[in-house]
Formats: sequence, structure tokens, C-alpha cells
Amino acid sequence: MEPVHIIGAGLAGSEAAWQLSRAGVPVVLHEMRPLVATFAHKSGDFAEMVCSNSFRSDDDQNNAVGQLHWEMRQADGLIMQMADRHKLPAGGALAVDREAFAADVTAALTAQELIRVVPGEITELPADGRWIIATGPLTSAALGQAIQGETGSDALAFFDAIAPIVHADTIDMSIAWRQSRYDKGETEAERTAYINCPMTRDQYEAFIDALLEAEKTEFREGETAGYFDGCLPIEVMAERGRETLRHGPMKPVGLTNPHDPAQKPYAVVQLRRDNALGTLYNLVGFQTKMKYGAQTRVFRMIPGLQEASFARLGGIHRNTFLNSPRLLDGQMRLRSKPHLRFAGQITGVEGYVESAAMGLLAARLAIAEARGAHLEPPPGTTAMGALVHHITGGAEARSFQPMNVNFGLFPPVEAKGGRRGRKARYPAYTDRAKQDFSAWLAAQ
Ligand code: FAD
Repeated sequence: MEPVHIIGAGLAGSEAAWQLSRAGVPVVLHEMRPLVATFAHKSGDFAEMVCSNSFRSDDDQNNAVGQLHWEMRQADGLIMQMADRHKLPAGGALAVDREAFAADVTAALTAQELIRVVPGEITELPADGRWIIATGPLTSAALGQAIQGETGSDALAFFDAIAPIVHADTIDMSIAWRQSRYDKGETEAERTAYINCPMTRDQYEAFIDALLEAEKTEFREGETAGYFDGCLPIEVMAERGRETLRHGPMKPVGLTNPHDPAQKPYAVVQLRRDNALGTLYNLVGFQTKMKYGAQTRVFRMIPGLQEASFARLGGIHRNTFLNSPRLLDGQMRLRSKPHLRFAGQITGVEGYVESAAMGLLAARLAIAEARGAHLEPPPGTTAMGALVHHITGGAEARSFQPMNVNFGLFPPVEAKGGRRGRKARYPAYTDRAKQDFSAWLAAQ
């Protein structure tokens, strides 16, 4: 059988190699470390965890990432198997001994007869064969340029600039209102595409003070090159002058507050729809380097967001990722070159677990293809399906930024027994996901 080549033996590439070899498909695994280094990796081991040693919550009843753990375990996932083997005490989180974990992933893969490891950097896009590109957020410069040559420069980013994302049902609509600036748009949906949060002068001044005082995260050495083009963090804008935001992302023009039409807001925070389901909204222009605790405190000062629940907080990082909603088909293949499949963080998911999950899924799709069959990804009601549907179609391509798994990506569900509140719905999401994921696996 023709082998599947994988570029990158990180979290995604390692999981993909495992899945393919276990299904009897030969693999050629190309990894550039330790011959070529990145600023974050320290070893030549596969699946190195570059920062924290946590796979986050292991609660598969009430947490979306815990549900993703469950699905990967059901699908014979190597990353979860090794994480469980090297688990450290960490409350409800799944933390691991990272060195023993990476060493064991490396040993498990190199012991597989069907996997041939080829050390070295791939610098060009392969012209033929079957490939999975899983080179991650720190894809080497040469390959990044080759990908950009194929996709166009606006479709492969080298930094993310993530504005916080809020669960729509936690926005207080007795304060906020729906309206596009100057009521622009041809349809009612377009004219009401944004949610607006108004501020008085006192509220604005207090907000600027809080932004200036908030604790910020520093960039790591080697991380910063060129990032400031066009995506200034809001706190940096605020440092440039107290009025800068009011003339930028918080300008109050072209908007009328229906709750108080006579009172013109001094500033307005706008939120834009982030997914097709309409369950998530991002704070427009609010990319930030504030620490997570500070973000929650400062953003809840915004009128209408005082009870907001954040699907993800903001950040700016060195991160190579595709505009997947535009570039990838539902099978995670590059539309313009379908022999190239992408997996891991480069597809626009965020996090160790999500990256490994996208490696698992890309491999399962490639296995079916190698057998001359066709496999649909799991349904959007599962954690793995919700993620892949988000990156390959559900997300807005225009403002696409990396995403971690969260219940806002799942189609809404009713809580059991008529219970009320967001948290009461979590077990209903995960029960449905378990049932649907099991059915998907059983059909393979
Ligand atoms: P990686 O694990 O990075 O694997 C990609 C592999 O491809 C690497 O081994 C690399 O050497 C190789 N490679 C790259 N280019 C080439 C090439 N041209 N030829 C051959 N090989 C190549 N996520 C979390 O959940 N928690 C965190 O704390 C966390 N911290 C992070 C900190 C930093 C600095 C960065 C950059 C990311 C962080 N992430 C974190 C995000 C992300 O989840 C991890 O980077 C994760 O490892 C991504 O998995 P991956 O398989 O897509 O990429």
C-alpha cells in the first residue's frame, strides 16, 4: 500500500502516525528536530509539550475538553494513552510528566514496523503522494513560505491576534442591542449583525484605567518578529492616548441605543458573530496580551458583559495557521491540492488536546481514503466533530482566529429535566456527544 507521509511529529503528527500504522497503513514520518530547532521546543522527542504540562480538564461530563479526551480514548488515541500512563496529581486536570510522556510517545512510534522516521526539514510542498502536514504553530520558515505561495499571503497567518469570545446567551440584552454601524446591510440579519455595549464617559474612563493597570503577559524571546503590523493589543492602543480607543474600535458613531435613544453613548464596544450557529460573539478589535484573570475582570466592566461567560480569552502569539474555512474541504484537505491534508494547530485549532484530536481525525479520514473508501467526520454534536466543522465551515472566514473546544461550538441542547442555566446543559451536551461518537466509531 502507498504510504502516507506526515510532516511533523508533534502532538498531531504523532497521533496521526499511530492511527495510520494501527490500521495497517504504512507511514513515513518527517521531523526536523533536533536538526532544526524552534524557539520553544527543547528536545528531539516527538509530541513535546512546549509550555504547560496540562491537558486541561479531564471531566467528561461537564467540560468540552474532557469530552474530547473521552472521544480520543475511545478511538485508541496514543496521546491519551500516554497521558494516562504519565499522569501527575492535579485535581480535576490531566497533568503529565512531560519528559516521560514525550519519551514514551517516541518509543511507541519508533517501535511500529509500519512507521519509518525520516529526520530533516521539508521545505517545499510535495507535488504528489498522500501527505498530512502537521507542522504546528512554529512551522519552519521555508515551509511556511511554500504554503503561503500556494494559499496566498492573506490565508496563512504567522501570528494570532485573538479577541475574547463570549457565549451569546450570557450577554445582558437589557443593556446591549443589535445593530450594524449606520444600519449597513441589505438584509435584516446584516443590519443587526453586531451586538453593541454602550459606555458613559465615567464608565469609559474607569475602563481605560483598568486596561492600563492590568497585568500583561510578556513575549518570549524569538517570538515577536513583525507582529505589531495591524493588530495592536487594546492596552497598547490605550497607552497611546486615553482617547485612542474611542476613535478606534470603541467609536460610538452610527449607532443608536434603543434602550435610551436620547442618550448618545460616549463609547461603544461591538461584538461580532463568530460562528454560523450564532452562539459565540467576539469583541471586535479587542486582541490583548492581558493575563487571563485580568481579562475576565476588565471585560466584565463593559456594560452588558457583567455576567459574561468567555468561550475563550484573548491573546497574541506566534502561531502559523491557515484560514481553514476558506482553504480546507470537509475532509481537511487543501481544496487546491487535495493530496495535502492538514492537521493540528496549523488548521486553526488551539491547544495540545485539540491539535492531537485533529491529528487523529485527519488520520482516520486518510485511512478511509487509502482503502478506497469515504469517511465523513463525526457529527457536529461530538467534541471532535464540533471542532472540525467549526474550522472547515462553521467559523466566519473573514475574522477566523484559532479556537479551542467549547460548548459554544455544539448545536444547542435542552438541559435534562427542564433544569435551567448554562451549566445544567453541560451533561446533556456530553451525553449526546458520547452516543453520537460511539455510533461514528462503530460504523468504521
Ligand atoms: P507541534 O506539537 O509544534 O508539532 C509540530 C512539529 O512539526 C514539531 O515537532 C516541529 O519540529 C515539526 N516541524 C515544523 N516544521 C517542519 C518542517 N518544515 N519539516 C519537518 N518538521 C517540521 N497548547 C496548550 O494546550 N497548552 C500550552 O501551554 C501551550 N503553550 C504553547 C506555547 C507556545 C510557545 C506555542 C507556540 C504553542 C503553545 N500551545 C499550547 C499551542 C499548541 O497546542 C501546541 O503548540 C501543540 O504542540 C500543537 O500541536 P501540533 O502537533 O500542531 O504542533
